[in-house]
Amino acid sequence: MIAHEFRRPLDTISKSAELVNRSSANNMLDNEKLGEIMNGIITSCHRLGHLTTQIMNLAHIENDNVRVIAEQYDAAVFMAQMHKLVALYEAPKNVKFSFVVKLKDPEMICDFKKLEVILLNLISNAVKYSRDKNRRVVVKTYEEDEHIVFSVKDNGVGIALHEQKKIFETFYRVESFETRTTEGSGLGLAIVKSYVDILGGRLTLESEVGKGSEFIVKIPRTQKHHYTSDKLVELSPNYHLYKSTVDEAFADI
Ligand code: ADP
Repeated sequence: MIAHEFRRPLDTISKSAELVNRSSANNMLDNEKLGEIMNGIITSCHRLGHLTTQIMNLAHIENDNVRVIAEQYDAAVFMAQMHKLVALYEAPKNVKFSFVVKLKDPEMICDFKKLEVILLNLISNAVKYSRDKNRRVVVKTYEEDEHIVFSVKDNGVGIALHEQKKIFETFYRVESFETRTTEGSGLGLAIVKSYVDILGGRLTLESEVGKGSEFIVKIPRTQKHHYTSDKLVELSPNYHLYKSTVDEAFADI
């Protein structure tokens, strides 16, 4: 099954490269067509990059080989970086994002790279499993006791009650028109669930078919109490979200 997910983008890349090669010999491609083909190649590369990262993340989880890198960082700045980069996809993916951050104290000691994986999976799914028109995704960040809560809400296709546990299983995809017509491996939510557990958090889902879904992630403000020293590495703050990471997360949509 997973081989199939590699096959499709690889076929796109090799067929596109052959076409460009053949056409360039007799100048048959105009710039617009060439641009289209190159975009197809770039998206396929992003898709392969994303799939490879997801498989590596899962392998670390399954081998119990996940280290938590604790960084002291500002959750509001973290969300601002994410907003800035995902907003680049508003026009191309026909979606309106609203980011609402309400934090009196934004300081967190957390593995921000894992938080990034969690949120990018949830945000890209929120877009992917919404119909083309009037897509709206609301991302909220707020405090609750000694936790920071991140919620990702969409007005998409929703998830039936009997599917709501299964979607967190590795490789599981709901059998529906949306999943048959969208790219995906069924790995994202399995990784999200494991990472939330690893960060000592809680993940809840509220969803109704035809109305939309809200995934709520509650993470302790500090990771320090949850780990023995061999699993917890402390770093000085140097978190940065790369555009290429967001491009890969959005490549399936
Ligand atoms: P993928 O998106 O690659 O299929 P995931 O593990 O991220 O894999 O999600 C598993 C399944 O859960 C998806 O195939 C889809 O059926 C369902 N799903 C995930 N997020 C949403 C959402 N926001 N709205 C509706 N269905 C969703």
